[in-house]
Amino acid sequence: MNILITSVALLYGLIFGSFFNVVGLRVPTQSLFDQNRSYCDTCERTLTWKELVPVWSFIIQRGRCKSCSQSISPLYPIMELATGLLFALTYYLTGFSSDLILGLLLIALIIPVTVSDIAHRRIPNRLLLFFGPLFIIYRIIYPLTPFWDSFLGAGFAFLLVFMIILISKGGMGVGDLKYYTLFGFIFGFSHFLLLFFLSTLYGALYGVVMMKVKKVGRKTKIPFGPFIGLAALTVFYFGDALIQWYLNLFM
Ligand SMILES: [Zn+2]
Repeated sequence: MNILITSVALLYGLIFGSFFNVVGLRVPTQSLFDQNRSYCDTCERTLTWKELVPVWSFIIQRGRCKSCSQSISPLYPIMELATGLLFALTYYLTGFSSDLILGLLLIALIIPVTVSDIAHRRIPNRLLLFFGPLFIIYRIIYPLTPFWDSFLGAGFAFLLVFMIILISKGGMGVGDLKYYTLFGFIFGFSHFLLLFFLSTLYGALYGVVMMKVKKVGRKTKIPFGPFIGLAALTVFYFGDALIQWYLNLFM
C-alpha cells in the first residue's frame, strides 16, 4: 500500500505545485484572489482546464500559449514536477508522522519563495509572515531537544547573515536574512550550520557552472533564495545522516 499512497502524494504534489507557482508569481505584485481563474500573462485570455493540467499541458502545447503562441516559462512545469516528487519523497521517508507535517510545510514555503525569487528577485514578506507563525506553532507542539536550540539557531543565523550583509555590501539581501533566520529557528544550531554551508556550496557551484557556459560574469547578481531552499530541503531529508557521517570522520 506504500506505493499507492506515495503515488497519491505525487499527484497531490503536482496539483499543489501548480498552485504554488501562482502564489510565487502573484504574491509580490498583486492580490492572490483578485482574479480567481488563471490566465495567460501575455494575451490575458483565461485558461481552460485542458491548459491547466500540471506538466502535461506544457508538453502537449510544446511550451506555448494556444492563442498567442507566446512561449511559457519552463519554470512552471519544473516547479510542478519538483513539488510532486518532493511530496512523494516526503511521504516515502517519513510515513504518517509529525515529520510529514514539517516536510509539507517546508515545501509549501520553499516552492513559492523559489518561484518569486527567480521571477521577481524577491522573497515576499507576506509568505514569511504567513508561514512563520505556522512553524512557531509546530515547534511549540514538537520542540527540538533542548527546546532553546530553536532560539540559538535563529539568533546565530540572524547575526551571521547580518554580518555578511554588512561586510559584502549587497551580496545578500534582507529577504535572505529573514529566510535564513526562519530556518535557524526550525532546524536549530547544528543543522543550521549545515544548511548555511550547503546553500553557499550550491550557490558557488551554480556560479562556477554559469561562468563556464559564459552566461554570467563574476559581477552578475543571482537570486540566492533557491539555494537556501534547496539546502533546507537537503537538511530536512538528510541532515541527521550528513552530520553523523561528518562526526564519524573524527572518531
Ligand atoms: Zn497567450
